Amino acid sequence: MSELRQIAIYGKGGIGKSTTTQNLTAGLVEKGKKVMVVGCDPKADSTRLLLGGLAQKTVLETIREEGEDVSLDLLLKEGFGGTRCVESGGPEPGVGCAGRGIITSISMLENLGAYTDDLDFVFYDVLGDVVCGGFAMPIREGKAQEIYIVASGEMMALYAANNIAKGISRYARTGGVRLGGIICNSRKVDRELDLLRAFSKELNTKLLYFVPRDNIVQRAEINKQTVIQYKPDSAQAQEYRNLAEAVINNKDLTIPTPMSQAKLEEILTEFGLMEDDYSI
Ligand code: ADP
Ligand code: MG
Repeated sequence: MSELRQIAIYGKGGIGKSTTTQNLTAGLVEKGKKVMVVGCDPKADSTRLLLGGLAQKTVLETIREEGEDVSLDLLLKEGFGGTRCVESGGPEPGVGCAGRGIITSISMLENLGAYTDDLDFVFYDVLGDVVCGGFAMPIREGKAQEIYIVASGEMMALYAANNIAKGISRYARTGGVRLGGIICNSRKVDRELDLLRAFSKELNTKLLYFVPRDNIVQRAEINKQTVIQYKPDSAQAQEYRNLAEAVINNKDLTIPTPMSQAKLEEILTEFGLMEDDYSI
């Protein structure tokens, strides 16, 4: 039996974390892997595609309504290919720590026995441009030992990725958490592949996979499905299968070396994302 791999997915809001995580999960499920996805974004849309659009009640909502004495089947819904789907949820806007739901969810899932021996992967789909407070929870407490950052060749996505790497390096020095790589979710920026490779190298990691941008992803989303379910024979479905294979085979886990602002700006300038300011 294989060892459970607990993986946290970080990246700027809107970069494609939830879409990529669910499509990757579908790819893993097709290969016979047993997967649990824990949504750690107050938006609570980390498992929608796997659940066919079914609105999953979040762990925090469930506790608010039912109290703490709940059974596992209230927190966990079964989705595509037997994936276990959980949404942590968030507090009422402006009230309390936004990461609170993550902390509550993980400990409840543990106490109720959700982490069974047959699981191969658990994914934590975590919101945020920085790894702080409650959002560091999956890695701070040593739950997720492996991290992937979703990024693209856009300036803000790379700023966020570098900030996330800073957070990871802090926890990596005191614990076992490691960066497994960058997943590029393409925005069709010029020279994006080379940019992401250069960026990853500077961070002491690698570009694990380059996911092309394709409107079929949105069409699948409108149909409340992953691409693998919606159009299994499409090129994009194959990309997600390849991503799944890359994750399965990845053994390169590193402590990231975040860049100084100057170094990051140098790379951005080199790839034409920033004006170089020597002319001023
Ligand atoms: P996040 O979870 O990081 O906030 P989402 O996964 O919700 O981001 O993605 C934001 C939007 O981008 C979604 O509407 C999704 O359909 C779209 N999207 C994500 N990846 C791709 C892709 N490879 N090609 C086309 N559209 C994509
Ligand atoms: Mg999301």
